Formats: sequence, C-alpha cells, structure tokens
Amino acid sequence: MKPDQFQAPDYYNIDELLSEEHKMVRDATREWVKREVSPIIEDAAQNAKFPKQLINGLAEIGAFGPYIPEEYGGAGLDQVSYGLIMQEIERGDSGIRSTASVQSSLVMYPIFKYGTEEQKKKFLPKLASGEFIGCFGLTEPDHGSNPGGMTTNFKDKGDHYLLNGAKMWISNSPFADIAIVWAKNEEGRIHGLIVERGMEGFTTPETHNKWSLRASATGELIFDNVKVPKENLMPNKSGLGAPLGCLDSARYGIAWGAIGAAMDCYDTALRYAKEREQFGVPIASKQLQQKKLAEMITEITKAQLMAWRLGTLRDQGKATSAQISMAKRNNVEMAINIAREARQILGGMGITGEYSIMRHMMNLESVITYEGTHDIHLLITGMDITGHAAF
Ligand SMILES: Cc1cc2nc3c(=O)[nH]c(=O)nc-3n(C[C@H](O)[C@H](O)[C@H](O)COP(=O)(O)OP(=O)(O)OC[C@H]3O[C@@H](n4cnc5c(N)ncnc54)[C@H](O)[C@@H]3O)c2cc1C
Repeated sequence: MKPDQFQAPDYYNIDELLSEEHKMVRDATREWVKREVSPIIEDAAQNAKFPKQLINGLAEIGAFGPYIPEEYGGAGLDQVSYGLIMQEIERGDSGIRSTASVQSSLVMYPIFKYGTEEQKKKFLPKLASGEFIGCFGLTEPDHGSNPGGMTTNFKDKGDHYLLNGAKMWISNSPFADIAIVWAKNEEGRIHGLIVERGMEGFTTPETHNKWSLRASATGELIFDNVKVPKENLMPNKSGLGAPLGCLDSARYGIAWGAIGAAMDCYDTALRYAKEREQFGVPIASKQLQQKKLAEMITEITKAQLMAWRLGTLRDQGKATSAQISMAKRNNVEMAINIAREARQILGGMGITGEYSIMRHMMNLESVITYEGTHDIHLLITGMDITGHAAF
C-alpha cells in the first residue's frame, strides 16, 4: 500500500466550530491511525485477520469508552470528541472503527447505563483498557431488521438463568471475552445479560468468506443451555428500548465514522487526479473528473455540518433517535457514493490494494446494512414526520 499522505478536507472551516480539546483528541487519533493502522491495514484486510496488536493503542487513545466517566476507566470526553475519534479511526478502516464502536457503545454503554454498580466496577475498567473485548448480540438468523421477534430466551432456574438460542453477524464474537446478549424471559420481555467466555454451552464460531469488513472478526453466538449467574442480568432497563438505546449511541458514531472513510477516498482521488496525466494533461483538468471531485467535497461538507450539529445536540441531551437515523443514513450513503466515484477516478489502480478506496467501498457495504439498514432508517424518518409506522 502507498504511504499514507492523508490531508483532511475542511472546506467550510469547520475546525472553528471545534474546541481545543476536540482538535487535540482528533489530531492525536489521526496521528495514531497514520502510524499504527495505515501501514498494516491492507494486509489485515487481504488476509481477513483482525489486527489484535491494535487493541492496546485503541485503549490508549481513548477509543474504548470515550464518553464513559474516568472513574470507570473511560476517557470522560463529550460526544463531539467521541464522533471525531470514530471519524479518524474509520478514515483508517471501518472494521477497526467497528471494534471500537462495539466496545464503547454496545458493550460499555449498556453496562454503564443499565448495569449494577458491581457490574460497572467489574467490567468497565477492563473494557476501557482493552484487557477485555466485548461483543453485542441482538441480530438472529431469522430476526435482523425486526429484532423484537427474537427467539433467544432465558428461564429462571432459581439460583441461575438458563439461556438458549443463537445470534448471528456479531462483530468481535470470535475472540470476545464477554457478550451483551439480548434475550426474552418467560414473559417475553427483552433483557440484557452479560455472558462470559468459558461458560459451558456458549460457543462463538467465526463467519468466513466476507468481502466486506475483512479486518473485523464476525461470528455467531450459540447458547446451548448456558447457565448464566443471576448477577449477570443488567437490571436497570428492559424491553426493546434497551438495545435500541445502545444502537443510538453506535449509530451516532457511524454518522461520523463514514465521513472519515469518505474523506480518505476524496483525498486519495484528488491527489491522484492532479498527478495522473492522460492526453498530455492531468486528469484533474477535465470537467468530468472535476464534477466528481466537486460533488464529493460538497457532500462531505454537508455531512460534516450534520455530524457536528448532531454531536452538539447530543452534548445538550437533545438529539432524538430519528435525528440520529437521518445522519447515519445520509452520511453512510454519502461515503459509499464517494468511494464508488473515487474508485473510478483511479481507473485500474482503483481496484488494487495499493490504494484504500476499494477496501473502504467494500467495508461501507456492511456499514450501510448494520445498525439498521438504509431502508429501515428511511422508514424511521418517515414515521417521525408522518406519525405512521410503515415497517
Ligand atoms: C459485518 C456485519 C457486522 C454486524 N455486526 C453486528 C453486531 O455486532 N451485533 C448485531 O446484533 N448485529 C450485527 N450485524 C447485523 C446487522 O445489524 C443486520 O444485518 C441488519 O440489522 C439487517 O438484518 P438482516 O441482515 O437480517 O437483513 P433483513 O432484516 O433480512 O433485511 C433484508 C432487506 O430487507 C429490507 N427490509 C427489512 N425490513 C423491511 C421493511 N419493514 N420494509 C422495507 N424493507 C425492509 C432491509 O432494508 C434489507 O434491505 C452485523 C452485520 C454485518 C453485515
């Protein structure tokens, strides 16, 4: 892969909207990605291996629980900082951002919000330091966009719960130390359980042959009469709203992350277009290529403003789930369109691993599907503005 020459576009001086702390956090993450992620990510993706050597660095830059209070090991940052960290990591690779998103928003967040004090003390510091990696089990083989239909269930056996069922498409599952598992009790109410590796009857087979998020490990969670101690149930929220609350936080991070992937594709294509000559002139001097590049920077700028405003609303406790859906949907579509256009600007070189564009493009096919598909987020906006659910 070519050396990382990334220069972040900021067409509307959005940096002026950021605090000194935001910029410091962003720049530190950017430097780390250049130093640690860019040199190894192409090999990791080509070989379909999650680069575990990045775990310590992710913990050190505060990517595990950026907004979790410091008393539990988190970085104690605000939501805009969290977004900027996700943007920079996904500039490197969506798979690495996925690991950080899952750890922060889908594992640490539910323990912090819905867990007991004992659960917080036991798990959060280890998750923040990367000693433990977690995963989040909501999707099932027969229930993806409709997680409320889940059949994974647990029964009260007096001194423990007995868990049965299966989850599919679970990021980090093959090597996770703990899993946040959403399952129904005997009354059909959804609860979150912390399932630990090593519990008898709990297995996590890996899903192979993905063409997308190849540097992220994906797998199943299988529960065959798993005895879960009662103290592993998170008591402070139940019902579908509990996992959806976690998804709000993760989707928000994705709205920023997608900008990172788009910026990398745009920056690469702009540099290439200025250097590559055909018919005796740089291809950047051709109107067709300028149209692509001009539209890219316009869309990136709109997405940056949307993400910044959403982050500010979240910091004020005012962002709605529907606003988060709109940003996730818009920004991921923006990124995937830019990846496709940028790939064309590079001609044949665009399909090789010399450049990051094709990897981003393939990654974004997962990002546009997970954490609520593109269609589902549109239906959420539709429901929000009309008052009619069309799911
Ligand atoms: C790489 C990867 C990692 C993932 N990581 C995780 C994870 O860590 N944890 C986790 O729990 N899940 C994870 N997922 C699962 C992901 O969230 C689901 O794939 C997603 O929610 C869609 O579910 P599905 O694949 O079953 O598709 P389906 O729900 O079967 O949808 C198929 C198609 O039908 C459309 N559709 C569905 N319902 C409607 C409707 N009512 N109206 C119109 N169209 C509709 C969808 O938009 C989609 O286009 C991951 C997925 C991938 C690919």
